[in-house]
Order: sequence, then C-alpha cells, then structure tokens
Amino acid sequence: MDVCGARITVFGMARSGLAVIHLLKRQGAVLRASDCRALDQNLPPGVDFVPQSPEALDDCDIAVLSPGVPPGLPIFQEAASRGVRIVGDVEAASWFLQGPILGITGSNGKTTTTALAGHLLNAAGIPCQVGGNIGLPLAAMVDASRPDQWNVLELSSFQLETSHTLRVRIAAVLNITPDHLDRHGDFANYAAAKARILLNQTPDDSAVLNAGNPAAAALAGHAAGRVHWFDAGGPVQSGFWLESDQLFANGQAFMPASEVRLRGRHNIENVLAAACCAHLAGAPLEAIRSGVVSFGGVQHRIEFVRTVRGVDYYNDSKATNVDATMKAIESFDGGLWVILGGKDKDSDYTVLRPLLEARARAVLLIGAAASKIESRLPGLAGLHHCGDLANAVGFAVAHARAGETVLLAPACASLDQFTSYEHRGSTFKELVRALEE
Ligand code: ADP
Repeated sequence: MDVCGARITVFGMARSGLAVIHLLKRQGAVLRASDCRALDQNLPPGVDFVPQSPEALDDCDIAVLSPGVPPGLPIFQEAASRGVRIVGDVEAASWFLQGPILGITGSNGKTTTTALAGHLLNAAGIPCQVGGNIGLPLAAMVDASRPDQWNVLELSSFQLETSHTLRVRIAAVLNITPDHLDRHGDFANYAAAKARILLNQTPDDSAVLNAGNPAAAALAGHAAGRVHWFDAGGPVQSGFWLESDQLFANGQAFMPASEVRLRGRHNIENVLAAACCAHLAGAPLEAIRSGVVSFGGVQHRIEFVRTVRGVDYYNDSKATNVDATMKAIESFDGGLWVILGGKDKDSDYTVLRPLLEARARAVLLIGAAASKIESRLPGLAGLHHCGDLANAVGFAVAHARAGETVLLAPACASLDQFTSYEHRGSTFKELVRALEE
C-alpha cells in the first residue's frame, strides 16, 4: 500500500494512535492528529493537532481510528459521506507488516491465549513477535516484522470492525458472549465484528473455533479456510480437546491436564486454542507440552501471589465483569474469601449467589458498588463491608484459616478507587507481599 502524499487524520491519541502517526509519517503520508480531549504528549514535527470536529476531516483522504474511537460517531458518518476512507489502527498497520498473522479474538481469554500462543512458538523455536491489543500496538511492531516471522496478535472487536483487507492466516475465536453492547448496538453486530477475523482468509488459511461455544462455532459456516475445532467438553472431529483429564491433538493424547498450571476449565479452553494455533504454525506436540508446562499465566488473571500461614492469595483483578468472576470462583473447590466490588457496570450480581453459597466462606465488599452488591444478595451469609482493599486483606488475614484462599475477583471496574485494573491488582499484591509470616 502506498500512502506517500496521502492526507491522513489519526483519531485517538493514546498509544496506538501515536504509533500509527509515527509509522505513516515514515511512509510519507501527510498527517494530522485528532482527539476529543486536549493533547498531552508531543507529536512528531510537521503533524498538526485538530480537535475532534468536522474540520479534522478537511482535505482528508483516510481517517485512521484508534481502538477506543467508535466508528458509529456522527463525525465518521460525515467522513463516509465525504468519501473519506475509514480504517482502524490494525488495518493501517497491516498494510506495512511483513510475515503471517496468527490472530486471536473472543469475549474473554484473548490476552491469556495470545501470550500463551507466543510462548509456545518460542518454545518450539519458531520466530514470532506478540502484540496487537496487548503490549505493543501493531503499528509499533511493523519495523521488527520479517517475512519469516509470525505476528501473534490479540485482536479486539473494535479493531476487527474497522479492518477490511487484514488477512489472518491462523484465526482463533475463543468465545462470543454478550459484551460491549453499548458500542456495537446488539449481539448480532458484536458477533459480526468478531467474524471479520475470517474475512480475507483463503483455503490455505485456518479457522480455530470453540466447538463448545455456540456463537463461535457458528462461524464455521463463514470460514473460507480449513476449520479446526477445540473443545474442553470432549472429542471433536479435527482439532484439540480434553477427554479423561488428557489433552488430545487429533486423536493423540499429548499431555495430562494436571500439567497445566493455569486454574480453571476456561483456561483449559485457552490452552487448547493456543496449542492448536501453535501446532498449525509448525510447533511439534513435545514443544507445546513443555511450553504449556512452563507458562505461569498473565498478571492479574487468577494470578497466584503468595501463601501466608497456610492461606493462598490470588489476584484476578482482571475479573471486571460478573462472568469472569464466576469463572474465577469455579476454578476453586471452596474455602474462598472473595473480595468483590468497585465501580458498578450495571451488572447483575444475583447470578453469583449459587456459586458464593457453594464455595465462599465470606464475601468482602469494597468500593462504590458494595451496597448494591449486598442488596442483590440479600441474606447471603458471610457478607462483610470492608470499604477498601487494605481493610479487606486485613479482615481476611485476621479470620481465614490455613487451607483457605483469598481471591480478589471484584466483578466490577476499578475506577472508583484505582486508576486501572492493573493498579488494583498491583495494590493487592503489595498488600499481600507485605504480610508477615
Ligand atoms: P481478554 O483479553 O479477552 O479480556 P483475559 O485473558 O485478559 O481475556 O481474561 C479476562 C478475564 O476473563 C479473566 O479474569 C479470566 O478469569 C476470564 N477468562 C479468561 N479466559 C476465559 C475464557 N476462555 N472464558 C471465559 N472467561 C475467561
């Protein structure tokens, strides 16, 4: 793609947008930066800043949208009517990327599976770089890309809905469950955005789909490439599955599930998906096994912190919605001290009751949502208002017994008391690391 001399406005000046500016500038484009907020970082010389308004589209050939910028805004309808081409950051970066793409999407599990897929390729000595929606934005990966190196990418629905020519050679769809409906309008639109990961596949490419998730499995009907299944519920026709506590690859048992260090059945799904992708990219099963065994997971996702006086502490600060919290609780047999609360996202906490009754010794409430959560779980035994994380940890330390587990899996956003879920998780880990034996 030749963008030399093209007039391009990049919308959204966070990390991805800035990386796109630097990339397209090197390609000779004439750039303008735009955002709905004031700019708080330096732009390269020659790049003007124009606040997000119709003027930002004047004399513009292409509008590049960062993942956080919704393409449904009126300004982009106007752009389309003026004949401006609208693309996302991943699409723009992909024009200059060398090497094949192994892409992973889904409502939950993207980061874990992407990190693991990269780890498995490394274990097999297959050159790759990992990024996209995690770590480096794709535009910042272009310089280091090579024709013989895989680009292992986490792809969000936001990035896929603004991709048009992106070709994903190995595309995994982990699951599609209701999420981000505020942005996509309805479930059908959201699923359609995810389906775009298969858009430009050819019969030489591979679609890796979760047979156990109806909306992901339904994409087989749209796949131009070969379909490979994964299923934590039992055998599939072609692909990777779990059966009798063994992981299978096309009928061959290659490792016991007990060797997977990540907790929970949902993580078995992530392992099967990553293993299937890595195998398709050429990783032998022995390398996949040793890679899975050495993978300790990603920070803030059911992350083991420490054992203090026989009590285990786990950080699942990334459980920012009820579904992820349920998956976290299901990953333990019982004896849980669950820390819940934060900024409410209009969630239905009532569905937590059966799991909490079965597996939690106590529920420690923190943050702005505490009263709402209590009101949705009336009469639940063991509810305690702790206010903040430090008090919740202090309460658990005083009362939990050896053999039990303290689990931060808040089912809420963090922004009432923290700057991000990472900040919340790190604060929890600092509190736990400071405990005395
Ligand atoms: P994403 O990048 O899609 O948000 P993560 O790997 O960061 O996914 O996990 C986010 C949360 O979702 C974690 O709290 C985790 O417990 C939960 N989770 C991870 N994998 C799955 C899965 N396959 N199905 C359902 N929930 C999952």
